[in-house]
Amino acid sequence: MIRFENVHKTYKTGTDALRGVTFSIRDGEFVFVIGKSGSGKSTLMKCITREEKPTEGMVIIDKYCISKMPRALVPILRRQIGIIYQDFRLIETKTVKENIAFAGEIIGVPRKKLNQMVDIVLGAVGLRDKADSLPQELSGGEQQRVAIARAMLNSPKLIVADEPTGNLDPETSESIMALLSEINRTGTTVIVCTHDSNLVDRMKKRVIEVDDGLIIRDEKGSGYTAEEKHSLPQSMIDEFVPEVVSLSEITGAQDPVKEEKKEEPLPEFPSEETKEKEEMKPAKVEETITVVATKKEKKAEKKAEKKEAKKEAKEEKKEDKKEEKLPPKKNEDPDFPSDEDPDFPSEIKEDKDK
Ligand code: ADP
Repeated sequence: MIRFENVHKTYKTGTDALRGVTFSIRDGEFVFVIGKSGSGKSTLMKCITREEKPTEGMVIIDKYCISKMPRALVPILRRQIGIIYQDFRLIETKTVKENIAFAGEIIGVPRKKLNQMVDIVLGAVGLRDKADSLPQELSGGEQQRVAIARAMLNSPKLIVADEPTGNLDPETSESIMALLSEINRTGTTVIVCTHDSNLVDRMKKRVIEVDDGLIIRDEKGSGYTAEEKHSLPQSMIDEFVPEVVSLSEITGAQDPVKEEKKEEPLPEFPSEETKEKEEMKPAKVEETITVVATKKEKKAEKKAEKKEAKKEAKEEKKEDKKEEKLPPKKNEDPDFPSDEDPDFPSEIKEDKDK
């Protein structure tokens, strides 16, 4: 169920795109949103996908007020919605099957399962034979089929298409609408925003007409066969904030993944084993420090020893050199005169000469 409750949207420029919009869409409905250019259709669609936030009022999907949902949860919402754009938005460098698989890769679907899923949706849009083609090798209609296949990949309960036939010729537009109608018959809620009144008239579905930010018409077409469908996927229910009212109270929930991690049960008291380990830790650290210190000390000691040895060797060398330079020693007694000295006693000199 989708519910708009008195939704206003005023852009920063001051434009009032929506001026108090209230309506409900039941699960499994096919709804056209029509109106002139600039009437507020896209803004309305963007409020469903949370590309825009109302300035006032509430947008509720099932019991979740998505207009007040924390920003961190928006990707989870988008995974539950298949979104189709007028300009297809395919990646030019990826093949058809790669473009479709991309949506599954982001959320980590295992490769084997993903290949099967891609094959199924390609079959559903009748493009199995184009699986390895690049987008530029396809016609506009085929590209939009690829975009529809991509939107279908995660089996969303809701498909939102903003002017899906805006770039297509009438015949192709009809086949695209027929495809969306087929998808709707399987239980998926489909909301299509379009200005193509001829197509809308032929399809005989519910029509919500917007004019100048207000709903001026809400008619159930004769072809309307909405059935009550099951609620949103369990994953969405599990991951979303459960109550509309409580959403405003949620301010701390930034990252659902982190939140999950935070909730991992931790033992209240350390077990005996943990205790032992904890007690071991400081000792080990000290031990390591000691070992490191000893090693360092030893290194320093060795260095000092080496330095000392070098110094000694140097000094010894110096001494040697000094000794080499000095005349040979005649006598250790500095007061003893040299025999070359003219005052040296002659008798001793003669004696020595003998
Ligand atoms: P529609 O889809 O029916 O053509 P939109 O919802 O795109 O209408 O626009 C409704 C009004 O809001 C228009 O007057 C448009 O110029 C204005 N508008 C739309 N988007 C923006 C925006 N991002 N910033 C300012 N004004 C905007």
